[in-house]
Amino acid sequence: MRIGCPKEIKPQEFRVGLTPHAAREAIAHGHEVMMEIGAGLGAGFTDADYAAVGAQLVDSAEDIFAAADLIVKVKEPQAIERQRLREGQVLFTYLHLAPDPEQARDLMSSGATCIAYETVTDAQGGLPLLAPMSEVAGKLAPQVGAWTLQKANGGRGVLLGGIPGVAPGKVVVIGGGVVGMQAARVAAGMGAEVLVLDRSLPRLRHLDEVFGRDFRTAHASAGIIAEAVAEADLVIGAVLVPGAAAPKLVTRDQLSTMKRGAAIVDVAIDQGGCFETSRATTHEDPIYEVDGVMHYCVANMPGAVARTSILGLGNATLPFLLALADKGWKDALAADPHLRNGLNVHAGRITHPAVAAALGEGL
Ligand code: NAD
Repeated sequence: MRIGCPKEIKPQEFRVGLTPHAAREAIAHGHEVMMEIGAGLGAGFTDADYAAVGAQLVDSAEDIFAAADLIVKVKEPQAIERQRLREGQVLFTYLHLAPDPEQARDLMSSGATCIAYETVTDAQGGLPLLAPMSEVAGKLAPQVGAWTLQKANGGRGVLLGGIPGVAPGKVVVIGGGVVGMQAARVAAGMGAEVLVLDRSLPRLRHLDEVFGRDFRTAHASAGIIAEAVAEADLVIGAVLVPGAAAPKLVTRDQLSTMKRGAAIVDVAIDQGGCFETSRATTHEDPIYEVDGVMHYCVANMPGAVARTSILGLGNATLPFLLALADKGWKDALAADPHLRNGLNVHAGRITHPAVAAALGEGL
């Protein structure tokens, strides 16, 4: 099969659909790999890295879309890319179609078969192609929170780890899933005093069993959230209600109970955020202040560490990519119900029930 990987064109996107490591494996499986010149540069992979593993370097994205059977990307196809997709072609990438009827309409009329990373599942009921990005965002959250707390950034000037004779900073993590667990581990590793709040008792039990020595847990009732937030130097928002907007767990009124210069990192901002005062920001201008509390609400945190992010994403997508290329999409989906859950668009229809329901009348 001919696998094509165009350079990402969404602003500020530095990742790439295929790492040289993934290209090497696909070629070893007998496939042809076409890489757009410069596609990997943002993540630190040169054209020579791809040439060295046997990939063909191609001048233009147009030629890749014209020739490839399978297109591998990171972000949803932009308007110009959607025009280039064609019937019989398979697209494997993040799509996030539910809030994007315009993209959904274009993909339906392209005739392409579109498999979305974010709806591929695993045997534990998880989302294996979303998890690496949550791991990245979780590990970054205390790092950017510590930076936000510095005086020059408007923070209260607290060092999370403290020093001998000076108490460490207090970090509250709301939501103890993939993001929250990684955030809590890193914050505890920095020496902070960490409390993780979650609604799920099985999740709290698990965290307590594994990390009980590193951080404390508590049930995320409204009263406990209010008390914890008032005491915190840094609050990290990491809740997810699948398929829904993030619940607003901290109101604007509650900001007045917080310490001046305390920091909020709302990782859940890509689902609307779990603080009433959150609004999405960018890596160029990541923080703003409301009522004396500094907010960091970057919606694509993994972009800050594009190289680690794409290596992690590549590890997770590779087995699915090889299955699609080796067996062809029909047999690969027939053999694996989890990959089948990734199918979002085929033959001009939205095939994923939840995505179709979310788009509803929007089409
Ligand atoms: P997850 O499903 O692994 O964990 C979410 C946790 O939230 C669960 O443990 C759940 O029990 C808990 N929860 C749900 N409702 C709650 C409530 N009312 N109070 C307390 N806890 C509650 O999800 P995840 O992978 O950790 O993702 C968390 C969020 O981070 C998602 O919104 C995800 O989209 C987002 N995210 C953002 C970025 C970014 O760059 N900003 C990157 C990756 C993930």
